[in-house]
Amino acid sequence: MELTCIRCPIGCSLTVTKNADGTVTVTGNNCPRGAEYGRQEMLEPKRTITSVKKIKNGTISLKTNKAVPKEKYFDVLKAIKNVPEKRSYSVGGVLIKNVCGTNADVVITNINIEKF
Ligand code: SF4
Repeated sequence: MELTCIRCPIGCSLTVTKNADGTVTVTGNNCPRGAEYGRQEMLEPKRTITSVKKIKNGTISLKTNKAVPKEKYFDVLKAIKNVPEKRSYSVGGVLIKNVCGTNADVVITNINIEKF
């Protein structure tokens, strides 16, 4: 698997190989963080999820407070879509705790109220 390391702006080109014994070999990295990134992308890819949810009088911007397994991406978006409307929202507040059993919370990062 060919990847670009995103752990720093240098963006090293990584080659990640899964060996017959289950170990992972990473080449092309200039530091240990790249090797860790390559191994994680091969064995358990994770992403921080950002989204925007429409509320009664505007929108709220959301983000998971930690990276969640990539295969949970659509489940998390569905959970965000289906969470019931609250009476009030605050920046930094938790909209969904432990979303989809990932141990990550969905946190409000911005509130945009439409002007009438
Ligand atoms: S391998 Fe190290 S130096 Fe290269 S992009 Fe990743 S973090 Fe940066």
